[in-house]
Amino acid sequence: MKAPPFIYHRPDTLDGVLALLAEHGDDAKILAGGQSLIPLMALRMGRPAHVVDIGAVPDLAGIDVDDGAVTLGALVRHEQAKRSDVVTRHAPLVAAAMPHVAHRAIRTQGTVVGSIAHGDPAAEMPAVALATGATMTAASTEGTRVIEADEFFRGYLDTALRADEILTGVTFPAWPAGATGSVVEVARRHGDYALVGLATRLDLDGDTVTDAALAFFGAASTAVRVPTAEQVLVGSTLGDDTIAEASRIVAAELDPPGDIHGSTSYRKHLAAVLTRRGIREATQQIGAPA
Ligand code: FAD
Repeated sequence: MKAPPFIYHRPDTLDGVLALLAEHGDDAKILAGGQSLIPLMALRMGRPAHVVDIGAVPDLAGIDVDDGAVTLGALVRHEQAKRSDVVTRHAPLVAAAMPHVAHRAIRTQGTVVGSIAHGDPAAEMPAVALATGATMTAASTEGTRVIEADEFFRGYLDTALRADEILTGVTFPAWPAGATGSVVEVARRHGDYALVGLATRLDLDGDTVTDAALAFFGAASTAVRVPTAEQVLVGSTLGDDTIAEASRIVAAELDPPGDIHGSTSYRKHLAAVLTRRGIREATQQIGAPA
């Protein structure tokens, strides 16, 4: 099916984008890589009257590092992030997620920020944003504001972004010294959206966990953390019993929606298995006890 008719705009300044969003509001959609928006329009699940292509706006494709914090601009493609030494070194959880994101042809077009703005609950980047405590910078004709990841994802394809705002970038905070992490998932085929996935971050002081984040994707209407399971890990040295207890809590607390690809109980089972796998994979990377 083809997309319904729309008016195409390609402003070459950020101010031009902001003016169009202010004028058209809910009737406008930003086009970044188009890897989610265009399929949705073709399926008639989205019918924006105005499509605002940001591809000609300068200065949105940068990867910047400031005191260890990494900022990806709105036009940084997944593949660009995957190949970036800065991302590998300073945002290792983003790097760990990249091989799981779609296929290369999609990664060369789709953007990291677009994935976050889209807020697909089965996508890797929203979970990575939650696990790392990323912040999103939103701009409108009224100014800019910074939105914390845990306030950003509100529901299925629903975020805190207003219709008149563009996300200009996402900032991943400096990766703590001694931290480790992993991204694990189960998908029907490599490159497909995950049935369930997990982004894990563990902050360590020696062998002891000082902070933990378990951010699941494909397990709720948004990416979601499970704080009670994280608390079990904090203060521990990640013994078998501790990991088993975290895994049990995850299965008890998550209530993933079932669909033709997997029932609720199957996804709960996957979440429990991935909890064990994700923690072990994270610890193996730095040789901490598991
Ligand atoms: P677009 O499609 O251009 O936009 C998506 C939405 O976000 C639109 O509503 C748009 O208005 C909004 N938006 C985009 N940028 C901004 C911005 N800067 N500010 C405000 N709003 C904005 N993704 C995964 O994470 N994991 C996968 O495994 C995966 N598999 C895929 C498999 C297939 C076959 C396809 C087609 C896509 C897959 N994707 C997957 C999605 C892909 O990664 C998309 O590129 C990504 O989700 C959205 O990025 P985009 O730049 O293409 O955004």
